[in-house]
Order: sequence, then C-alpha cells, then structure tokens
Amino acid sequence: MTFRIRIVPGGIAVLLLIGCLFAAEAPAAEAPAYADNVVIIIVDGLRPDALKQAKAPALESLIKRGSSTMKAQTVTPSRTLPAFTSMLTGLPVETHGVDWNEYEPQRGYLKAPTIFEIATFNGSKWGAAFIQKEKLLHVTKQDRRLALHVCSINEPGCTAKKIAADVINAYKTATDSTKPSLFLIHFAEADVAGHADGWMSTPYLRTVEDIDRAIGALLKGFKELGLYEQTTFLVSADHGGHGTTHGTTMPEDMTIPWIAAGPGIKAGYEIKQPVSLMDMPATVMRAFGISDYYVEWKSRSVEEMFKPGTAAVPAGAGRPSQ
Ligand SMILES: [Zn+2]
Repeated sequence: MTFRIRIVPGGIAVLLLIGCLFAAEAPAAEAPAYADNVVIIIVDGLRPDALKQAKAPALESLIKRGSSTMKAQTVTPSRTLPAFTSMLTGLPVETHGVDWNEYEPQRGYLKAPTIFEIATFNGSKWGAAFIQKEKLLHVTKQDRRLALHVCSINEPGCTAKKIAADVINAYKTATDSTKPSLFLIHFAEADVAGHADGWMSTPYLRTVEDIDRAIGALLKGFKELGLYEQTTFLVSADHGGHGTTHGTTMPEDMTIPWIAAGPGIKAGYEIKQPVSLMDMPATVMRAFGISDYYVEWKSRSVEEMFKPGTAAVPAGAGRPSQ
C-alpha cells in the first residue's frame, strides 16, 4: 500500500489555519484534563496503616495511578455522621450542626447544600449515592437528580461485593439522560469489624481486604463500561479507630487515607499539603473542571495533586454542558 501526499495551492494555509484552531482550543492537551465522572469511595473506619498490613491491590493500583497522602485528617468528633456531613458540605461540624451519630428520622435533613446539589446546580451532574448505614439518610437529601440506594449493614447479604455490583447495575440500567456522573459509595464493614474485634485486628484487616476486592470489582466494572479513563476516583475514610472505638482526637482516630486517581491528576505522587476530609467537595468540582460556582464553605481543592496547566475552567468552556 502506498500513501501519497499532494500539496495543492492553499493547502498549507488551510493546514496552518486548522493548526491555529487546535492550538487555541486545547493547548498541550493530549490526555483529558477533567473527569466526566467522579466516584467518591468512603471506607468507613479505614486507617491508613491498614493498607500496609492488609493486601489491597485495588487501592494500591489507584495509589500508583494517582496521588495520595496517608496523613489526611477527618473532623472532630471523629464519627461517621458528623464526618460524612463535613465531607459532603465542606463545612466543620459546628457550622453544619450534624453533631449526632444515630439515625433519628425526627431530626430531618441537613440544611446546608451538599456536593450533589452544588454539582447539580452548577454542572448539571446527576448523582448516585450507595450508603450502607441508614443514618446517612440525614445527609443524602432526596433530589430529582440523585438516585439513593440504601443497602443496610443490618440486612443479611448487604456486603461490599453486593454494593459494587449494585453500582455497576445502577449505571447500566439508568436511561441515557439520567446516567449518574457523581457517585458516593460507602463501605461500612471495616468499621463493624473494628468495633467487634478491634482496629488493626486480623478480622479487621481481612475485612479491609474484602472491601479492596469489591473496589477491584468496581474498577473492573468501570473499565468494562468504557468509563475508567474518564473517571476520577477519590478514596478516603470518615475516621480511623483504636481499640474497639473511635470519636476522639487521637491520631489513630483522626488520620485517614486520601487517594485520588483520574484525568489531570499526577501519577505516583505523594501529596505534601495538609488535606482535610472537608476538602472533598471543592476537589470534586476541580476534578470536573467546574470553577464558576459560589458556596460558603471551608473546602479547598487539593491543588497540589493536579498536573500543571490544568487549572479549572468555567463550566461549559471545555465541553458542551449536558
Ligand atoms: Zn464506628
């Protein structure tokens, strides 16, 4: 087979013009800078040092593919419901007011806007939340664009493995106009094992391994759906633990992992800046490439982990809005 190039009069000018258009459109961009999908994975009660002692190849693969720190901090009190609320709102506990840690339906819903509402209003993102504790209903407010899936840890058969399958199934069965692009996935079993047998005990570490297998299945599912390359995964925990409890300001309770991998995020990079669980929502918006929104919060994007030259652009400037 032979290839022939014909230079026709005016051809060079056309090529130059096309070159200029591309240069103006996408400077130095071969890989996508922003994510089409963002998946927040919260492993309830995951201590960073558990990742050294347990076999966690799926999380290891995300650490290699992305940026991480094993010194991120949760909020006080280091308990699930207050911490989740801070993670979803970017607000400290004294501001959002959710300082209790039980499911008390009469107390109603959180009032401050969550990342789901902010991403919906400012980026038309549809959300899907998969929660394994009923008390998180206080902070996952029902919204037209949020599909809520509750698979309670108290129900038999509600395992990390099932939740991973539920996530993939929910994406597959959603209609084209309602496909979620912002996911919150909560795995509660390590916390249960910590309370029963102790943080860093063998049963706790085995449970972390089960959850890692579920995360592996989730990543595989995203690959099979053709979404993996355009998806940012943000993995963290609501708190750590010591003995058979948590809730104090001890480093064992406060220190959490923070792992981020996806478009525009440095590979194999260790984050040095201080990271708070409250930084989650600003980082989600940054990963989507949305900057033209206003909300009063304490959340700050973990800017250090993003590749240079991928500063967030106003919504809609980089790609057509949905
Ligand atoms: Zn707990």
